[in-house]
Amino acid sequence: QASAADALVFFGATGDLARKQIFPALYGMVAHGELDVPVVGVAFSQWSVDDLRERARSSVTAALPDADPEVLDRLIGLLRYVDGDYRDPATFEALRDALEGRHRPVHYLAIPPALFGTVVQGLASVDLDRDARVVVEKPFGRDLASARELDAVVRSAFPEESIFRIDHFLGKEEIMNLLYFRFANSFLEPVWNRDHVASVQITIAEDFGVQGRGPFYESAGALRDVIENHVFQIVALLAMEPPAYQGYFAVHQAKANVFRAMRPLTRHDIVRGQFEGFREEPGVSPTSDTETYVAARLFIDSWRWAGVPWYLRTGKKMPTTAHEVVVEFKKPPQPLFDDAMMAQRPNHLRFRLQPDGEIALGARIKTPGEEFVGEQRELTVPTAGAQARRPYERLLGDALQGDRALFTTEDSVEAAWTVVDRVLTDHAPAIRYQPGTWGPAEADTLIGADGPWYEPKGRKA
Ligand code: NAP
Repeated sequence: QASAADALVFFGATGDLARKQIFPALYGMVAHGELDVPVVGVAFSQWSVDDLRERARSSVTAALPDADPEVLDRLIGLLRYVDGDYRDPATFEALRDALEGRHRPVHYLAIPPALFGTVVQGLASVDLDRDARVVVEKPFGRDLASARELDAVVRSAFPEESIFRIDHFLGKEEIMNLLYFRFANSFLEPVWNRDHVASVQITIAEDFGVQGRGPFYESAGALRDVIENHVFQIVALLAMEPPAYQGYFAVHQAKANVFRAMRPLTRHDIVRGQFEGFREEPGVSPTSDTETYVAARLFIDSWRWAGVPWYLRTGKKMPTTAHEVVVEFKKPPQPLFDDAMMAQRPNHLRFRLQPDGEIALGARIKTPGEEFVGEQRELTVPTAGAQARRPYERLLGDALQGDRALFTTEDSVEAAWTVVDRVLTDHAPAIRYQPGTWGPAEADTLIGADGPWYEPKGRKA
């Protein structure tokens, strides 16, 4: 049983992620009684603790206009601040003093990965790595080689069981439900394989662009930013074998086996796109070839999934913001009815992850009348309720408690990079697409006879 941390050290507390996501999550943790240890921000903005408190207050009230002032005050009361350059050893001495003898901190690195090594070494130089945990933000590298390097850097001070790699998708209620739904129900397992599943589609669409993060996005691209981590995590949860026993370790192993069984992508398996106007974004090269859209055809060379194509796509400036999975089943073996429409789409199971989680079973239902013809209808169940916690609230709370279940492991990270490593550099140029469309027409060619792509339901009007 891991012991609870006695402080949260927050590297990058003045940054963009902190403002948008982390302070509201910390507020939620305080509200749910999961955070009552000091939170020590460390950054280099020449701020005072009052500046940090003001930032926390404004970021919480922007995200949660109905925030309870008493809870917010409690969060503000927990905040400390150390101002200093991570490259300066004195910053870590000041941090040690600010921790006032607390010796089981969680160090949260919400900072550019290029600084992980500097910070980890700084922590070790003042003994703040001992009995501590470290939480690292994605991306874990930008290809296989750099992921390995990054890992070596973090492991130089922290053992694997103290490293918590965040993929915030894993903290989403709807993603956790994929695991639950698969293994808490018995009707699924007999059909969850190559004999009954024709193909799987996963769409992660955003109707917005890069939202001021041009320089970051320019060097990342959709394949690195979304497919290699978030989408592969979804694939792993859907494709994994039943964990051999209860507990997170067995889940981690089962997922890692999926990554290992994924056939490495080649240039023929992907279509890259770039929305018209991306090159004019601040911080983006006028000749940029970075993809803001990618569609991929993936195979998992395992006994269960041999021959089943997984079609994955993600893009910015799409017609809507929606995250959906559609598992399409095979057609009935023999037509029994004179129903021409039946040829079009067989049964499916749709997991709508965002917005408004729901699970739907697509089935044909007879249309009243003499003819034996019908239509595809969905039996739909809404999933996450309004009380769902923010992913970061859940994940940082788990890290403070030492619960590793919803974090990724180094072997999974490496195996996932292995799948995309080649196409990161060996690919055709990105094809332009108009904002507000579903991306390049070449993606329809990629999916071919297994298509068309299911159009995800967007936000409710
Ligand atoms: P950011 O806005 O650039 O913030 C970087 C933070 O690091 C700032 O607090 C900055 O402090 C601090 N910092 C940088 N260099 C420093 C130095 N030498 N000494 C001391 N402090 C230094 O970055 P971000 O967008 O928040 O992203 C942080 C991490 O989260 C990255 O790994 C990113 O990939 C990941 N992430 C971000 C998002 C997002 O939406 N932003 C989403 C998912 C993951 P000062 O500015 O005070 O110097």
